[in-house]
Amino acid sequence: MLSKNKTAAIFRKEVLAMSAYKVADASGLIKLDAMENPYNWPDDLTKNWLEILKTCELNRYPDPEAKQLTQTIREQNNIPSTLGVLLGNGSDELIQILLMALLPNASVLSAQPSFVMYQQISQSLGLSFINTPLLPDSFELDLPAMLAAIAAHQPSIIFLAYPNNPTGNLFSAEAINKIITTANGLVIVDEAYASFANASFMNELTQHENLLVMRTVSKLGLAGLRLGYLVGASSIIEQLNKIRLPYNINILTQATAHLALTHHALFDEQTQKICTERTHVYDQLSSLDGITVYPSAANFILFKTPKDKATDIFTAIKQQGVLIKNLSPQGGLLADCLRVTISKPEENQAFLTALKASLENLA
Ligand SMILES: *Cc1c(COP(=O)(O)O)cnc(C)c1O
Repeated sequence: MLSKNKTAAIFRKEVLAMSAYKVADASGLIKLDAMENPYNWPDDLTKNWLEILKTCELNRYPDPEAKQLTQTIREQNNIPSTLGVLLGNGSDELIQILLMALLPNASVLSAQPSFVMYQQISQSLGLSFINTPLLPDSFELDLPAMLAAIAAHQPSIIFLAYPNNPTGNLFSAEAINKIITTANGLVIVDEAYASFANASFMNELTQHENLLVMRTVSKLGLAGLRLGYLVGASSIIEQLNKIRLPYNINILTQATAHLALTHHALFDEQTQKICTERTHVYDQLSSLDGITVYPSAANFILFKTPKDKATDIFTAIKQQGVLIKNLSPQGGLLADCLRVTISKPEENQAFLTALKASLENLA
């Protein structure tokens, strides 16, 4: 085993200071912590899928450009041929590719709280990462503070999650536009939850050279596949494509995602059910004494519990068989906050029942 001194001589201090990304063990629990879609496929589609998998040649490398899948993504999103598309092993990999391509002294800007991987990957690469706090209560972008951070740090990349995770809201489109037109660097609008939101910057791409839109199929119902895509100016995608690993989208993902995306009516229907349930869970949470619930355009809801009770409530809910996400340890605007993923009616009900019981036990 290498001694501490020796690892310190090999690895960057940022890496030594990091903790690995931990995922809670959900065995035996109703899993409402990771924005997964709870619905399965109908039997005929599963059958069709297994037939396709049989034809996949696992002894061969996959198509390095995933041409068929890329074409399907282009068609379904009406992406003009003048724009480039880059596929990633999850959008997490696209974030990594973007950040790996930057100059060594580059800085990266995002809002706080937002998706943790922007910061995690920036730090792992030794880049300087700047967080601008969102406004309390509304979780809206603090535009003057963002513009000041842009002026002061000239970030090479700005990440904006739209809707934002973990707050669930859509930032003001006007504020985002102002950031895009002010920034000299790239602005990545991360639309991981686009299917639940009815809002997108995809149509703005042709107007702004420095804008890129990132999507994933994870929250749509295909988290196990690991597929994300980044759309933007061909001149930018061309640079990023050079550092993408040649076979980053495996053969099973290419075949499965192509099939799934050509059956998007099924996913639209599942998304619709989840949006209906989101309204129900929101209304139920709003009616609870001591709970502050925040509006969501995604497939999860953030809510605030009574002061210093979030961890107790989270634990009590877990003891009743439901796993949600405890964000309170992150502090700042997330102090006392929990996040629940919207799922099937009976699972949402189990969560609401467990929450109510844990609130009564507090009193
Ligand atoms: C979940 C999530 C991602 C990661 O998606 P993958 O494609 O599964 O890597 C990216 N951005 C945001 C805002 C997310 O919430």
